Amino acid sequence: MADTASMTVRELAGAVASRAVSAVEAARVSLDRIASADRSLRAYLQVFEERALARASEIDRRLAGGESAASIGPLAGVPVALKDNLCTGYGRTTCGSRILEKYESPFSATVVRRLEAAGAVVVGKTNLDEFAMGSSCENSAFHCTHNPWDVTRAPGGSSGGSAAAVAARTVPLALGSDTGGSIRQPASLTNLVGLKPTYGRVSRFGLVAFASSLDQVGPLARTVGDAALALGVIAGFDEQDSTSLEALRQGDLDFVRDLERPVAGLRLGVPRQARSPQNHPAVAAALEASIGVYRGLGAEVVEIDLPHLAYGIAAYYIVAPAEASSNLARFDGIRYGRRAETGPGDHLMALYSRSRAEGFGPEVQRRIMLGTYVLSSGYYDAYYLTALRARRLIKRDFDGAFSAEEGMPGVHAVLMPTTAGPAFKIGEKTSDPLAMYLEDIYTVTANLAGIPAVSIPGGFAEKAGTDGQDLPVGMQLLGPAFDEARLLRIARMHEAATRWHERAPGVRG
Ligand code: GLN
Repeated sequence: MADTASMTVRELAGAVASRAVSAVEAARVSLDRIASADRSLRAYLQVFEERALARASEIDRRLAGGESAASIGPLAGVPVALKDNLCTGYGRTTCGSRILEKYESPFSATVVRRLEAAGAVVVGKTNLDEFAMGSSCENSAFHCTHNPWDVTRAPGGSSGGSAAAVAARTVPLALGSDTGGSIRQPASLTNLVGLKPTYGRVSRFGLVAFASSLDQVGPLARTVGDAALALGVIAGFDEQDSTSLEALRQGDLDFVRDLERPVAGLRLGVPRQARSPQNHPAVAAALEASIGVYRGLGAEVVEIDLPHLAYGIAAYYIVAPAEASSNLARFDGIRYGRRAETGPGDHLMALYSRSRAEGFGPEVQRRIMLGTYVLSSGYYDAYYLTALRARRLIKRDFDGAFSAEEGMPGVHAVLMPTTAGPAFKIGEKTSDPLAMYLEDIYTVTANLAGIPAVSIPGGFAEKAGTDGQDLPVGMQLLGPAFDEARLLRIARMHEAATRWHERAPGVRG
């Protein structure tokens, strides 16, 4: 069998299109790798073996019948995995929660329908922190996922299952969701490219809501080109999502076409605040190395000031729980999922509270309490409103950095680390929620400002892992709203110059 597992999305789609490899072969390789590698990684919550093989053979049949690969779609025969907070009209959609353990969605999310319409073959659904709340996958109600670079470490979260699945080469592409960093942070800890698109760029219809004003779906892949291709497939106006941007109805969704064309006259800004003494030495070194890479390519790199970056975590951990407390009210033991046992004399309230107490894990309960508190009438102004003000100031910082007006920095993108350190040990931060929240220090601002951001492989912390393995560290590029095409070109310049993405983890099943 061809070594399809080491192929990128674009290579594999090309091989299927030219019929050098069959879609069934590609699906088989993916399923076999899951069977072997996932025993130690536990990236998957469900695997759709039969359905995947049937879908793949359908694609082979269409190709054999003379249909062109172009008409089937740009992902014809490519195995993909989905974070399990994306609704699928088949299998279960659990959100990593007991409350939805047996939940079967009657429909598929728009992004899932678009992937499948482009020929992708969904092989399974991946583990996550419950309702996407967390940075390590340890908040999953089912089990934690292990980092393929060092199985004693977390793959990040909340899309840690999707990251481990791609990093371990079980699939070349997976979808995640990013509310405060959940695509970029796991990408950073597993040497992947993870893209959070502009808010409104990708439909949220069928993504189980965590914090509706922050959530976006995006790809995790091994190369910038693959992320660009996937973005083109999932992006675009959707009338079922009221925050999907109507103006993009006719928008250009080809993010691959100009990818190899370096950005001429590139100007990057490095926030003074991101050169924090709290950065791991390897992260600090990787940031300086990336600056060197871009300068070597002729770019101008300037220091900028994002004075409100420091308020990102505080604002995020008020806004996100506030929205979550409202969104999660629908899980009441009646309309969806788990229903607690009640006796004949029990009041309806007992059914609600028992179902929720049994169904939600401790982090979700903590966020519901926090969110309810900051929205309560006595505290709304002091906390929620203040957080919204901080959010506005953060957005203004970025607008200023991107502004080309006289006296403004006028940068095309902001460059900073994705996380302050490489992958941490499983269990290391579970007893200290605040330490876990600090994982998001460099990522939450993009969600608060609504702008696109991508994490790319940034190098390695040498011998930092257990038994002296090298551990990947990520760099992040943030751009103006709806500027993904240029942002990805800037990312591609770094990738082509460094080739960090070519290094694969040792645990390969
Ligand atoms: N780690 C952050 C949180 O726990 C971000 C999660 C996310 O992006 N879904 O809220």
